[in-house]
Amino acid sequence: MKHIRLAMIMIGVCLTLNGAYAQDKGKGEATSLSKTAQAMAAQGYVNIVDVDPSIRVSLMYTRADNFTGKVLYTDLREAFLHPDAAAALHKAQVELQHLHPGYSLKVYDAARPMSIQQKMWDVVKATSKRIYVSNPANGGGLHNYGFAVDITICDEHGDSIPMGTKIDYMGKLAHPEHEATFLSQGKISKEAVQNRELLRKAMAAGGFKVLKTEWWHFNLKTRAQVKNEGRKPIR
Ligand SMILES: [Zn+2]
Repeated sequence: MKHIRLAMIMIGVCLTLNGAYAQDKGKGEATSLSKTAQAMAAQGYVNIVDVDPSIRVSLMYTRADNFTGKVLYTDLREAFLHPDAAAALHKAQVELQHLHPGYSLKVYDAARPMSIQQKMWDVVKATSKRIYVSNPANGGGLHNYGFAVDITICDEHGDSIPMGTKIDYMGKLAHPEHEATFLSQGKISKEAVQNRELLRKAMAAGGFKVLKTEWWHFNLKTRAQVKNEGRKPIR
C-alpha cells in the first residue's frame, strides 16, 4: 500500500513536471525570437531558416572579432531578409547542394535595422574604415533593406571552406575583380578561387550578384532599384 501511494505521488510529480515543461516550451516558442528579430518580422521580413532550415547562420556582429572590434548585435542572432531575397537564397542553397552535395551556405550577416547601421557608422566614421560602411544619413546600404547578404560556404561539419581571406577582410585580396592576378602571384590558392566561383555560381542561381570589393557580399537588387521602388529602410 505504501509502495502504491509512493508510486501515485511519483506519477503526480512527473505529470506536474511535464505540465510545467510543456508550458515553458510553449512560452519559449512564442518568444524565442530576439526583440530586434520580432521588430523585423512585424515589418514583413522573414527569418531565413523558416524559408530554408538547411541554411546555416552565424552572425559575425554578435561577436567582437569583426572589423569594428565591437559586438554590434546585442540581441539579434537571427538572419532576416526581405521575402524575395529569402526565396532567392533558398534557390541558391538548392543549387549549391546540387553542385556539391554536403556543402551549405552559411550566413554571416543579412538584414540590418538602421539603428544598428547607425551604431556601426558611429564606430567607424572617424576612421579609415568608414569607406566600408554605408552612412545612415544617406539611406544606408542594401543590408538595411533586406536585399544583401554576407555569406560563405561550409562543409557538412559547419566549418567554412577556404576563400583566400577571412570574411570582412579589408584589402584587395578580398576583391573578386583581382582574383586572377593574385592567383598568378601565388597570393591566393587555386582552391580558394574555385571555392569563390562555386559560391558565385550558387548565388547567381538565386539572382544574387557579388560586390566587386567583398567576395562574401551579395546583393539581390541595386541601390537604384530599391530607391525607384520607393522602399523604406528597416527600422
Ligand atoms: Zn555585406
